[in-house]
Amino acid sequence: MDHLPIFLNVNGKRTLIVGNGVSAARKADLVLRAGSDLTIVSPQLGQELSQLASNYSFRHQKTELTAEDLTGCMIVFGCSGDDAVNQNLRELAGAAGIPVNVSDKTEDCDFIMPAVVDRTPLLIAISSGGTSPLLVRMLKARFETTIPAAYGRLAEFAGSYRDRIKVLIPNMVRRRRFWEAMVSGPVAEHIFSNQLEQAGTLMDTHLEEAAASGDKPPAGEVYLVGTGPGDPDLLTFRALRLMQQADVVLYDRLIGEGILNLVRRDAKRIYVGKLKNNHTVSQEEIGRMLIELAQQGKRVLRLKGGDPFVFGRGGEEIEALSENGIAFQVVPGVTSANGCAAYAGIPLTHRDHAQSCVFVTGHEKDGELHLNWKTLIQPRQTVVLYMGLSSLGAITAGFLSHGADPATPAAVIENGTRAGQRVITGTLESLLEKTSQAGIKSPALIIVGSVVKLRGKLSWFANRPKDESS
Ligand code: SAH
Repeated sequence: MDHLPIFLNVNGKRTLIVGNGVSAARKADLVLRAGSDLTIVSPQLGQELSQLASNYSFRHQKTELTAEDLTGCMIVFGCSGDDAVNQNLRELAGAAGIPVNVSDKTEDCDFIMPAVVDRTPLLIAISSGGTSPLLVRMLKARFETTIPAAYGRLAEFAGSYRDRIKVLIPNMVRRRRFWEAMVSGPVAEHIFSNQLEQAGTLMDTHLEEAAASGDKPPAGEVYLVGTGPGDPDLLTFRALRLMQQADVVLYDRLIGEGILNLVRRDAKRIYVGKLKNNHTVSQEEIGRMLIELAQQGKRVLRLKGGDPFVFGRGGEEIEALSENGIAFQVVPGVTSANGCAAYAGIPLTHRDHAQSCVFVTGHEKDGELHLNWKTLIQPRQTVVLYMGLSSLGAITAGFLSHGADPATPAAVIENGTRAGQRVITGTLESLLEKTSQAGIKSPALIIVGSVVKLRGKLSWFANRPKDESS
């Protein structure tokens, strides 16, 4: 951070501006709105400052600035068109230990002024540290249009209940839930439509109910959320909403930074993937953690790559939860077969190529693949193999020894939908060698079937990243 963002209470405090132009008027407008006792030092007032004088009162000093003028000032602004005047202010303020802001000269500033979206008492301050005023203006415009004016009213209403709520709902987790329900539920809706009396009545009812439940923590809950194969754009709205309200998140290596960054900032993060020493947190340990955290009243987010119910062990996790009477929700995600296929330009079914598609695991158990080759090797069918990269040799050999055509098209997609996506295409005969030559790593998905041939034809429309090879 290049600057420390703070909101200064200048109400009734002295501030001073040298200058008389637009920049001086803008600063004056802000400090006056914040209730400051302002002095403008300038031989005369420009048009904007004169206009301001009709709404606010401030002192106008026509004589030159002296050190005494700064006595008792909290902050001062150099807005003169004359650099020497600003420099003089800077020196005097420096000697008196008063923070100074000089217009358009970030390097001469003790503090800089942000762009402000004003929904008093709610304030949004935006700054690029002087690097890009255009970006700041764009962001300000975006906030101005997306944050309703009534948010200020909501903040004010919330503020008027703060002390009472603290006393009536002593449990912190319960209190936070109460606030969350208030700012996004019917109470807020009443405030937005300016029905303050109804909002107050509803709030009192909710508050009585909440107070009646005493100091107990609220009931916890588990969200089993599918995040898709990696591109954060593939998250569902529901996934995002639950990610934003979780208290704690359990994740593993299939969950990329892009997605983790969308989880509520202050949620506690617990990594339950493979550790450096190769220790894996067992399914039982994860189940136990989910239960314990939920029993403490937490909203526990369990993030799953792809879809939780497609080779995601989601079924086992919710079994443990329901045995222990823990409430849970399951949010489906785009499974990697769908995501990888779309981003690689390989349709999983196609009128002329495949009328069925099967998803199987290529994971070996006790060094052996347990696949029903007869059902896999069928005409006009696509086979998608998850977790099959390390057994790719056994997979292609299995297809061939059970009678599949060696020329059957096949593909491996590494890091599907992510920035480093790579797609290797070949046939059942050539795929293993091409894949090992390219040094393909996990996570990778295997697709077998004549639909793979369509990739050349269709990939022009796919959202695939550029740095791939085939
Ligand atoms: N529940 C997940 C699958 C978990 S099993 C889902 O629905 O997608 C883990 C396997 O998923 C990996 O071995 C790999 O085969 C596949 N996979 C997950 N993410 C992937 C990605 N971004 N690219 C390619 N394969 C992926």
